[in-house]
This record gives sequence, C-alpha cells and structure tokens, in this order.
Amino acid sequence: MSERKDYTRIMAEYLKAGATMLSLTCPVEGCGLPLFKLRTGEIVCAAHGKVLLVKSDEEVKEIRERITMISVLDKLEEKTLNIIREQSEGEDVDPREIIGWLEVLERIRRLKEMSREKQSPSKPS
Ligand SMILES: [Zn+2]
Repeated sequence: MSERKDYTRIMAEYLKAGATMLSLTCPVEGCGLPLFKLRTGEIVCAAHGKVLLVKSDEEVKEIRERITMISVLDKLEEKTLNIIREQSEGEDVDPREIIGWLEVLERIRRLKEMSREKQSPSKPS
C-alpha cells in the first residue's frame, strides 16, 4: 500500500528531529503504527499525529486497555439488547427474566460511561 510508505517517511522525519520510537503502537483501531516520543515529550503517530497527551508508556497502555474495555462492553450491550428483544417477543414471557436482563444492560452502560469519562485527558491546558 502506498499510504504506508508516506507514514514511513513521516517516521523517518520524526527520528531525524530527535524523536525516539516507543515499544508501543498507536491505540487507534486498525492503525497499530509505532508511536514516537518527540523531544517536546509529545507522543505521536505518523498517521494520526498527536494521538494522546500522555506522560508515560504506562498511560498509553492504560488508555489502550480502556479502549479495549469499551469495545468489549459495546459487544455485550448489543448481545444483551438482542436477548431482551427476543425474550420480550416470545410466547411465554417471564417479566422477571427480562427485568434481570435490563439490569444487566444498565450495568453495562454504567461501566461504559465510567470508561469513557476516564478516557479524556486530551484537553489542552
Ligand atoms: Zn495511528
């Protein structure tokens, strides 16, 4: 892919400017390019520019875990919604069971909210 080549050129420029390549890759889904730490301390991806305002590799890891968590919760939410839909359309509906699933759904959504709240360190100060 020719797009990839352009990124290589950008990465070479990062290195020329004194940046160091980190052992971590870009957390943006489907990207996976190596991250670079600029002399200014900023961490950048050749494709996405300044992706995260992070201070340490640990922070990058933490944010990656959170993104994974949200995508897992998204899938769970969809599954739970499907179960609720199927059950409520069934012949012998047990309301208690549906309420149980609704509670599960609510818990999933709360967890998702929590993950999202923690995820926004990118306000310029
Ligand atoms: Zn990227």
